[in-house]
Amino acid sequence: MSPTDLWLLGHGITASPSPRMQEAALRARGVEGSYRIVDVTPDELGEALRRLRAGEACGANVTIPHKLAVAAACDRLEGDAALTGAVNTVVVEEGRLLGANTDAAGLEGALRGAGLWPAPGTDAVVLGAGGAAAAALLALSRVPAGRIWIAARRPEAARQLAERLAPVLDATPAAWDAAALEPLLAGAGTVVNATPSGLAGLPLRLDGLPAGCTVVDLRYRPRPVDLVAAAGAAGLRACDGLEMLLHQGMLSFRRWTGLEPPWDEARAALHAAVGG
Ligand code: NAP
Repeated sequence: MSPTDLWLLGHGITASPSPRMQEAALRARGVEGSYRIVDVTPDELGEALRRLRAGEACGANVTIPHKLAVAAACDRLEGDAALTGAVNTVVVEEGRLLGANTDAAGLEGALRGAGLWPAPGTDAVVLGAGGAAAAALLALSRVPAGRIWIAARRPEAARQLAERLAPVLDATPAAWDAAALEPLLAGAGTVVNATPSGLAGLPLRLDGLPAGCTVVDLRYRPRPVDLVAAAGAAGLRACDGLEMLLHQGMLSFRRWTGLEPPWDEARAALHAAVGG
């Protein structure tokens, strides 16, 4: 069998813990191969995709800022990638690029594993309107959640995301403003921070959340994630994005190798890579 060489296509991502996680998974399953960062600018992306089609690697993860551009370049998009127009996983099949997205399923796996999967009908607020917010909204659509609000610092971005996901989800744009969000947060069973901002930059007062509310922050660094620590200290259920990173990565691993992911080994490598 030829080596399973895999890429992480992104830009400015030298500190990603994914190579250590994926290489630990390959090793644990006895698969010869590598997983390495291929850092390219948007101008260099076309050449990188040409090399991928030519068989330099058998698959890739895709991250900031290339998820949309890679989706546009794929020969076929499946499932969530087709819905969101964003790809985080590419499988190379005889010179063709198949685009998938494991982020929403990764978040679902993480929340289910932690016992934090919302009960059907739970109201939810998602902060942010980028790729991670789209994944969170798709996951919520599968609960299915109750009323869902999207708040983003650019209202237009929240409106566009709600429109894009309208075929599978009824989400309402909300103002990026603590006073306006207060009544929505007061009834929320799940709140997701899908921005890179820490607690101080969010229109969120933890003492305004109901007891039993789950706070999910998709960031996983620096650790401990401030919002998660503060929510825990306030007696709320909370989790950061590390288990989501594990799950989305292992779902990609399964796509590339056809093997059951070695969850424990991959999790241990991921924790070692992020330092806790
Ligand atoms: P993205 O596509 O660039 O979207 C980021 C969103 O956050 C946009 O709505 C952006 O608004 C907003 N934003 C950026 N900086 C902000 C700030 N200082 N204050 C308020 N809003 C801000 O990025 P993404 O891929 O969605 O990633 C968002 C976060 O999720 C990152 O921290 C990332 O590390 C994390 N993430 C985690 C996982 C995981 O597996 N755990 C997976 C994906 C992402 P503008 O459009 O106005 O800039």
